[in-house]
Amino acid sequence: MSTWIRWNEESKLCRQGQLGEEQKVTINSIFNSKIGAEYLPPEHKGDIPPNVEGGQLYTGSCHCGAVTVALSCKPLDEFNEGVVVVCNCSICSRNGYIWLFPRPENVVLSGSEDAIGRYTFADGLTSKTFCRTCGINMTNLRNQLSLDEVRALSRHSRQVYERNKESHPVNVRILHGVDVGKLNKVTFTGATVMPSTYINP
Ligand SMILES: [Zn+2]
Repeated sequence: MSTWIRWNEESKLCRQGQLGEEQKVTINSIFNSKIGAEYLPPEHKGDIPPNVEGGQLYTGSCHCGAVTVALSCKPLDEFNEGVVVVCNCSICSRNGYIWLFPRPENVVLSGSEDAIGRYTFADGLTSKTFCRTCGINMTNLRNQLSLDEVRALSRHSRQVYERNKESHPVNVRILHGVDVGKLNKVTFTGATVMPSTYINP
């Protein structure tokens, strides 16, 4: 039996209160983790976006709660076709994003300027926002480029920059109460569609 399967089985017994102290120590030592109180997702304390017709309000957060999000969109369930996207580009594959594309006015990203990290690369059209404390990846925020910066873009990048006005993509994984396993995901082959212009720093 693999370590993982054994750990899974023993965890079940542990939750059911059928495990002795000695076995509990074994489980903890496998992942060197601490079993504490149940994790409660941090509450969103920022503004609430306007509702969309027939829509629903969702809130989400990083792990530690320094950065939270609220958004309005059509209900996220198994009946929704093609609203969430999994991309295989260099950053999406590494961060395991599942993208949802609400309009910018329907998304509130909340946290102090110090709390929100911004990672930008290639043409610098957007920033991948994340929590500077716990590292959780939150949204893909459109950067405000100067006129000169926009002029310096390629035609294609300018088109993408324009199109990016239409949404403030959110990582569905951070939303509370959304079962990502049930969502119909569309696969986007960003790795081939978006040729990398990343230059090693
Ligand atoms: Zn955090």
